[in-house]
Amino acid sequence: MIRPLEKKRALVTGGSRGIGAAIVGRLARDGADVALTYVSNPDQANETVRAAQSLGVKALAIRADSADAKAVAAAVEQAVRELGGIDILINNAGVAIIAPIDDYRLEDLDRTLAVNVRAVFVAIQSAVKHMRAGGRIINIGSCNAERMPFAGGGVYAMSKAALVGLVKGLARDLGPRGITINNVQPGPVDTDMNPAASDFAKKLVQQMAIPRYGTVDEIASLVAYLAGPDTAYVTGASLTIDGGFTA
Ligand code: NDP
Repeated sequence: MIRPLEKKRALVTGGSRGIGAAIVGRLARDGADVALTYVSNPDQANETVRAAQSLGVKALAIRADSADAKAVAAAVEQAVRELGGIDILINNAGVAIIAPIDDYRLEDLDRTLAVNVRAVFVAIQSAVKHMRAGGRIINIGSCNAERMPFAGGGVYAMSKAALVGLVKGLARDLGPRGITINNVQPGPVDTDMNPAASDFAKKLVQQMAIPRYGTVDEIASLVAYLAGPDTAYVTGASLTIDGGFTA
């Protein structure tokens, strides 16, 4: 069995459920040791860890609220200590707080920026202290960085669009060090955040070239490709995987 990520060490933020858990599972299947962060549900985090361990890799869960910059930096340090280094950082943890402009609360704006943008920067800054040439950084952005077809999503779209600029700029810092940095921008994916069985989902699929929600494994598969050995020349890019949502 070919395991393209054998001997690699990865950290996935928000890796206990949804897209993050699928990424943890896929990286483990590909041979990487994996740490994940979570915030509220230790049982779910431990279940995802056990599933990864059953694939023959080292795995651990770290409680770290991405809204807390110190906790994010400490989680990176713990992952480095326990796995012996870091080769792959996946910034997946994110929140989507949707509300009309007239009602949008300042604390929700701050929380969105703290989790979706500041934590991404902090994790990258902490991880690159330890990353060697061949390192991979992948942020989970959103197709909403490019298209937001409903009201109330402006702040979420702004937070994901910020990542587009971030990877372009940081690609220049990290390229000479042999580290790549990219965004994966999913379209609607069936998770607790965005269940496929909802009235909202029915409306959304009408906007798409492929009229269905994506699966978490489809997103994990693009992440694994970017984390692997075949993509050393891809950097500063934001790759959509959205069933044609932005087409
Ligand atoms: P879910 O809400 O289903 O899962 C979120 C995961 O992140 C959980 O593991 C949760 O842990 C963790 N998490 C949430 N908040 C924090 C925090 N403050 N600190 C640390 N961990 C946290 O989300 P999805 O899987 O749907 O989304 C994952 C990413 O993909 C997000 O960045 C989202 O914006 C993006 N995305 C999702 C799309 C979708 O349609 N689902 C579409 C496009 C992008 P716990 O169990 O402890 O709460």
